[in-house]
Amino acid sequence: MSLANKLSQERRARLSAERLLEQKQAELQAANRKLGKHALELSNEIVETRAEVQNVLNENQRVKSDLNVANENLEIAQRRLWHSIETIQDGFAFFNADSQMIGANNAWLAVFDGLEAVQPGVSYVEILQLLTEEGIVDIGDMAPYAWRENMLDRWQSPVPGPEVIRLWNGEYIKLIDQRGHGGDVVSLALNISETVRYEKQLKEARKRAEAASRAKSSFLANMSHEIRTPMNGVVGMAELLQDTELNEEQMLYANTIKNSGEALLVIINDVLDYSKIEAEKLVLHKDPFDLERCIHELLMLMQANARDKGLDLLVDYDFFLPTQFIGDAGRIRQVMTNLMGNAVKFTESGHVMVRVVGVHSDEEGSTQLHISIEDTGIGIPADKVGHIFGEFNQVDDERNRKFEGTGLGLAISQKLIKLMGGEIWVDSTEGEGSSFGFSITLPVAEKVERDCFRPHEGLKTALMVDDHAVNRDILQHQLEGIGIKTIACGSGAEALEHLKDKPDLVLADHNMQGMDGFELAEALSKEAPEIPIILLSSNTGSAEADPARKFVTTVLQKPVPRRELFAALQALRSVMPYAKEDEPAPGPASEASAPAPERQMRVLAAEDNKTNRLVYSKMVKSLDIDLQFAENGLEAVELYQSFDPDIVFMDISMPEMDGKVATGKIREIEQQTGRHVPVVAMTAHAMDGDEDGILAAGLDHYLTKPLKKAKIIEQIIAAKPDCARDPQAADQPAG
Ligand code: ADP
Repeated sequence: MSLANKLSQERRARLSAERLLEQKQAELQAANRKLGKHALELSNEIVETRAEVQNVLNENQRVKSDLNVANENLEIAQRRLWHSIETIQDGFAFFNADSQMIGANNAWLAVFDGLEAVQPGVSYVEILQLLTEEGIVDIGDMAPYAWRENMLDRWQSPVPGPEVIRLWNGEYIKLIDQRGHGGDVVSLALNISETVRYEKQLKEARKRAEAASRAKSSFLANMSHEIRTPMNGVVGMAELLQDTELNEEQMLYANTIKNSGEALLVIINDVLDYSKIEAEKLVLHKDPFDLERCIHELLMLMQANARDKGLDLLVDYDFFLPTQFIGDAGRIRQVMTNLMGNAVKFTESGHVMVRVVGVHSDEEGSTQLHISIEDTGIGIPADKVGHIFGEFNQVDDERNRKFEGTGLGLAISQKLIKLMGGEIWVDSTEGEGSSFGFSITLPVAEKVERDCFRPHEGLKTALMVDDHAVNRDILQHQLEGIGIKTIACGSGAEALEHLKDKPDLVLADHNMQGMDGFELAEALSKEAPEIPIILLSSNTGSAEADPARKFVTTVLQKPVPRRELFAALQALRSVMPYAKEDEPAPGPASEASAPAPERQMRVLAAEDNKTNRLVYSKMVKSLDIDLQFAENGLEAVELYQSFDPDIVFMDISMPEMDGKVATGKIREIEQQTGRHVPVVAMTAHAMDGDEDGILAAGLDHYLTKPLKKAKIIEQIIAAKPDCARDPQAADQPAG
């Protein structure tokens, strides 16, 4: 190889080495660059990491300080909570699900008086044990184990009810335990000693108030006695005075004395009744009574007032309703008297109607009665209707002011009806009239009466004449109910036209527009003298005295009770041309042929008050009796033995020996003789309970003062023995 070749070879080799070197240098540079870049990146990362570490460190610092604050707050909250729990005066304790105490405040712990065992961890059972063993709780007569068992049962129930326990020192603690989630129990022990003491005081105050109320009632009873006794003299003497020869002026005075006396008695009775009901002293009695008759009797009493005003008094007594019920007739009568009395008082013209219907009651053998009293009077303004049942409330307006009254009647009626378990209400339209109603449920004391009456075959059609449509309707209802066909006429003239229908009977109203009842009867006596006529009159006294009375067969008092109407129809057999001969004419049963009585009845009256003795003697003046007075109980017992009376009237309050004791003595004597002379109490005591006391003392009957002539005579007649003369056989009739 040539040098040149060698040189060129070397040059080439050098060149190639140089190129390789360049390449390697380039590669090295690239690698360096990469390394530099990487180093840069690394250093950046380190910077970032350092910053992050710093952040974390900062954060950590903050969290630590927050935690410290939170812990401090928690401690404060806990301290405050405990402080509060300690501050409350009631006991407070927590228990875990295993009934172990976790903690309790001092009030709760104080009850245990420092017993070491009572500390966190103690179980409820152990606590109960300590309570009984250490005598901390007063369990009365209960056995300790029984008491603990009760308490434990309660504790373990899901929702324990509150429980009051009494501690040894007389304090009362009410336990209220609340079970929370997880079985923990929060237990509150409230000291209610003050409340219990207060309740006791209230009870005592109530007792005192009741005693005061009783004292008030007996004060009222005594007052009523004191007022009634002289009132007995006033009213009784005025009544007797009216029976004597008086000139017009004197009669006016006597009437005024009697009316004012009676009005005063009404007020006394109202006030007395009201306080009795208030004091819950009113006792309802249950006796059989005739409701229909009771209504008619009341209407009879109102008749005079109603007649003065020209009012019609009507009764619509449900035909299918029994009349005998069991209830407190006196109180029902009192309510009806008030409602009917008001209806008549507040009605100037038109009518007052008592409507009685009965609906079947759920109570076996009882009927729910609806009794309403409708009038066509002044009515009550809508804004006043709500308050008339209140005490002393009256509709105070121009029209009303002229009417007398206490405003207690409706309040008493409402209370009485409530006591009977019923309801009372009113519907009223001012200027048109009112309808007061009440409903009560009463046991029926009889079978339905309608089966009892059958008119005889001759009585098929009745002609009814009344210018009052409501009246015609009621009568029609009653007659058709017993199978008599009716022809209703509004006037006498119309009735005469209907004679062609050949009625068997005419029922005519007394007072009618145009032709009145008597004028019609006179006309009929000419045209159809064979038809019997029944005249219905609200003033039977004047009807009976009328010269035209001879034209009518029977006069009946209006409104007619069904019984009386039916009795009158029955009695017609004797006057009707087709009456059967063999049927005896109805009338009072012929007297049994008793042996001729020989002696007067002997009546003994014990009364310490001179005026009352005078009143009594005047009241029985018309009777054919032998009357003797005793002035006190001792005398009564003596006279009972020497005078041998058939009946004794006995005043209750008398000096030396009162009426009850005297009656007791008489009953003792009778134990030997085997006799029983009726003894009738005469008393001014009108309080309930008195009657029971009086009857329990051996008296048979009971009359309250002021005494009524009719009631006294009724008692005497009832006591007449066979061997005595009829005391009323003398000229003057009773009443
Ligand atoms: P008194 O009749 O004694 O005033 P009540 O308690 O019986 O007391 O009646 C209260 C009031 O109710 C009466 O004063 C009267 O204003 C009103 N009132 C009662 N019944 C009727 C009636 N039928 N029509 C109009 N107002 C009546």
